[in-house]
Amino acid sequence: MENLPELKALLNLPKDIVIVSHRNPDGDALGASLGLALFLQKLGHSPHVLFPSEYPSIFSWMPGIDDALIFDTDKEETLEQVRKADLIFCLDFNSLDRIDKIGEEISATNVPIVMVDHHIDPEPFAHFALSDTTASSTSELIVDLIRDLGEFRHLDAQIGSCLYTGIVTDTGSFKFSTSAKLFRTVAELLEIGVDDYALQDLIFNALPEKNLRILGHCLANRLEVLPEYHAGIIALTRRDFERFNIQRGDTEGVVNFILKMKHVQMAAFVTEQPNIVKLSLRSKGEFSVQEIASKYFKGGGHRNASGGYSYQGLRTTVNKIKDILPLYKDQLEEQARSSLHNFSAQ
Ligand code: 5GP
Ligand code: MN
Repeated sequence: MENLPELKALLNLPKDIVIVSHRNPDGDALGASLGLALFLQKLGHSPHVLFPSEYPSIFSWMPGIDDALIFDTDKEETLEQVRKADLIFCLDFNSLDRIDKIGEEISATNVPIVMVDHHIDPEPFAHFALSDTTASSTSELIVDLIRDLGEFRHLDAQIGSCLYTGIVTDTGSFKFSTSAKLFRTVAELLEIGVDDYALQDLIFNALPEKNLRILGHCLANRLEVLPEYHAGIIALTRRDFERFNIQRGDTEGVVNFILKMKHVQMAAFVTEQPNIVKLSLRSKGEFSVQEIASKYFKGGGHRNASGGYSYQGLRTTVNKIKDILPLYKDQLEEQARSSLHNFSAQ
């Protein structure tokens, strides 16, 4: 961050600080926000954590999560916190339209905004920006920020547990977006007392029976494999949502199972929501679903994990994906070839 001394100076006096992250907050959005809130509290500030929509219940053990305000359930109070803030942190997203009404309220204030994020193409709405697409997670960047502020001694096991949660979820348990620097950072978190085994058990072995049944249904009855395009699609209808009583977050991670097939390089998980059709896209290696999400589905994200939406209905949206795949056939084949040859050539 170029103007870090200026931010450091701002943090010298106690402030009312809003920390906001994106709709459908994931482990990284939650970990970065709650970890930063605990840290700012230790510095003597009054942080308030806001999310546009509810978080998945598997994260309800996280410290401070009960105090977070959810816009969807507490509209006025959430916006009131934005109006009262002296300083606003925007974490794990990089354009204000990702946070709906809260974003509009933030645009209307003139307090300094700090953005910490690891997505591509940040919009220039923040006065202070720590934006690094090579970072595994926003939580990793919060560790960097705490270090750069010269306050690493305040990073305790509780804060570290929040940040570890963000890192382990955004890297799919250290499977992607890793780096030597990330492993050093995680080693430091373990040294200050973060219990990685206990946290992984809390986070990854915590599914209700229902979610496993939904996963089984998706894989047994809703998965379509398109071998000629090295792609797989799972589409869930509104009736599937009713039949399995699927709530937000219940299908988290289902898309990743599609990539477990050897030759599949691209995965799409498409769901019929009340007003829109939501897409989750995943890919392997150099093949970019970010391009597909932003070009065709009003979305974005990362090269290997992106999302978007469509107003065109479930079947039409699935057909649109199938129409797009031929345009990427060569790239998908190239990616399939290189994934097979990377190690066998030596
Ligand atoms: P997921 O598939 O897990 O919902 O999202 C994967 C990634 O895609 C996330 O990192 C998120 O930033 C991005 N993403 C998901 N939905 C959208 C969307 O509607 N718009 C944009 N710009 N990014 C999205
Ligand atoms: Mn993230």
